[in-house]
Amino acid sequence: MEAKANAKAKVKKMKPLQELVRPNIWSLSPYTSARDEYKGHEAKVFLDANENPYNDPVNRYPDPLQRDLKARICAIKGVREDSIFFGNGSDEAIDLMFRIFCRPGVDNAVAIEPTYGMYGVCADINDVEYRRVLLDDNFQPDADKILAAVDANTKLIFFCSPNNPSGNNIDRKVIDKVLDSFDGIVIVDEAYIDFAGVPSYLQQLSNRPNLVVLQTFSKAWGMAGIRLGMAFAQPQIIDIMNKVKYPYNINQLTQKRAMEEVMQHDRVRGWVESILKERARLMEKFARLDCCIKVYPSDANFFLARVKDAAATYNYLVGQGIIVRNRSKVALCGNSLRVTIGTVAENNALLEALSKY
Ligand code: PMP
Repeated sequence: MEAKANAKAKVKKMKPLQELVRPNIWSLSPYTSARDEYKGHEAKVFLDANENPYNDPVNRYPDPLQRDLKARICAIKGVREDSIFFGNGSDEAIDLMFRIFCRPGVDNAVAIEPTYGMYGVCADINDVEYRRVLLDDNFQPDADKILAAVDANTKLIFFCSPNNPSGNNIDRKVIDKVLDSFDGIVIVDEAYIDFAGVPSYLQQLSNRPNLVVLQTFSKAWGMAGIRLGMAFAQPQIIDIMNKVKYPYNINQLTQKRAMEEVMQHDRVRGWVESILKERARLMEKFARLDCCIKVYPSDANFFLARVKDAAATYNYLVGQGIIVRNRSKVALCGNSLRVTIGTVAENNALLEALSKY
């Protein structure tokens, strides 16, 4: 009983949202579009949005809040409809975090390092200090080091799990400790969660007011080309994201294509199964290649491998028409290549080329 009370006492309360959000954003009067003002489906004559009456259906502006798609996704993901934000890729949601929470030149964000490059790029674009906390040799973070990087102006902490480019799930105990101890916003980027074999942080959304979970249609869903990302958070945060985003950020063709895919989403499970099977086979074979020093464990649809000479191997593969990613310049990734899992034939082409290298 006492231990439980102590554990509870350690949880730091999130700062009120009004204190975390930039004052100009908090007081923003958002643009209201014609499609915001009139939401019903019953009308037949639309003369409200200065659209062209010809060229049906692309003459019409899309639903700014993508309600039909959200109604489907909330059932699949087990979250409330008003906890979902759709962005032009999850990259849009990442950028919005900075634009909403970080005062340029004043506030800062903390992230694990190495990780997905867009957090740092968005920080730079928004003139926000970006504090990198190095992972250990197993690409795991230390909660105390992350918390030590926090000061009064830290608004955001980024985790990416499974992490890119290392491919591993981040230790949940570390993420939980940071969620419990930090009074700002904690972002858990789960772009690769469908390959991870662990539960999503979405399950914690209802009791974690400071949690933002990012997912995407670009990986397991196989739709990187339509640019559709998801952010999940408490409704008050989603409301602010909706205020700041471009009015029609998700185009009509994307909404339509995503809807078609959602209606047959069993396909995704099949793709994930094939990719996981191929991941095991390719990693095992890659580890035995002459050029390979070490294959790191993966919980994603790619793996990182340390090789003898990453630049030479990369260039050789380019000459064979096979493109992997050379991550050698990234922290802790010297001489490392990141390899995405392809089809059986694509993976065989890679193995065959490297066996002759
Ligand atoms: N997060 C991570 C960890 C990624 O690796 C990527 C893309 N490679 C993204 C987000 C961006 O995804 P999207 O296509 O949804 O913008």
